[in-house]
Amino acid sequence: MKMKNAEGDEVLVAEGQSRIWNYFPNLPIPNSPVFHLRPRSLFVLNWFRRGWMTVSGATLWVALAFAISNWFQPSLTDLSLQAVGLMFLRNLALIVIVAGGLHAWLWVMRCQGDKLKYDSRAMARNNGKFTFRNQVLDNMFWSLAWGVPIWTLYEVLYFRGVDTGLVMTLKFNDNPIWFILFFWFILLWKGFHFYWVHRLLHQPLYYRIAHSVHHRNINTGPWSGLSMHPLETLPYFSGLLIHLIVPSHPAHFLFHVYALSLNPALSHSGFDALLISDKRRLELGEFFHQLHHRYFECNYGTPEMPWDKWFLTYHDGIDKNTRNTRDRNKKMDAK
Ligand SMILES: [Zn+2]
Ligand SMILES: [Zn+2]
Repeated sequence: MKMKNAEGDEVLVAEGQSRIWNYFPNLPIPNSPVFHLRPRSLFVLNWFRRGWMTVSGATLWVALAFAISNWFQPSLTDLSLQAVGLMFLRNLALIVIVAGGLHAWLWVMRCQGDKLKYDSRAMARNNGKFTFRNQVLDNMFWSLAWGVPIWTLYEVLYFRGVDTGLVMTLKFNDNPIWFILFFWFILLWKGFHFYWVHRLLHQPLYYRIAHSVHHRNINTGPWSGLSMHPLETLPYFSGLLIHLIVPSHPAHFLFHVYALSLNPALSHSGFDALLISDKRRLELGEFFHQLHHRYFECNYGTPEMPWDKWFLTYHDGIDKNTRNTRDRNKKMDAK
């Protein structure tokens, strides 16, 4: 069916989608332009500019990674409970500030009302599907009880390795170009790793035991990002192990950590962007992943990597993809 999106363009959307979506971006959703056979240089430049030259998730996490590695990382030369405890409290504070702050701004104080909000519904209450029958409390519980400890565990492993000299590090002067490019490669690696872990998580038995916890959220909020069963959180963060082999600066490692732990609060926020005085100040949601939460068997990866496109699991928001996805859902259910 054809209808006008928020920008006023006429697009083909899935049946019933207009009732589901309060807002949706321009469709079809573009995939990373970097892997096109004939990349259009302007599109690639624009894509880079939006991701890396403005205030974005990526640039915020780079700045935070340098700040934390310089000023808020205790030495783990002697593995003390106090140092590990400090790291845990630091991470707890970070997720409360980012996920809690966004939740308060967008969902409690409703500072931008329904503007740019994908799903028209509120967070679920009194719903037996969720722990404590409450979506926000459920999401906070799984994020704080499992997400933050497992995230801290990976950090302890890395920094203990660095501080005892077992893990090689990279300095800016060693190779300035690679030092900068490495931040972008981390996102590519994250997209590669996430796609394959995610496909595994969708195997029926694994899905039932673990991944279904994350998928309770069809309508997502900032706390949904890290709301996962520990059997999902462990492999989800395992892409960080690459830093034990490939020499990195602690800021590279922490950037990777924040792309996995804090960025999901933005990408699951349920809103396309943060508006301040009616201007888009920070890109938030990924409609690409929002479609995964709604239609399940599609968009396992991230828009940075072309896997979904190549393996025909890409849902760009239009009718035809919804039908293909429903066929895949039926096949998975029959297993
Ligand atoms: Zn999934
Ligand atoms: Zn998700």
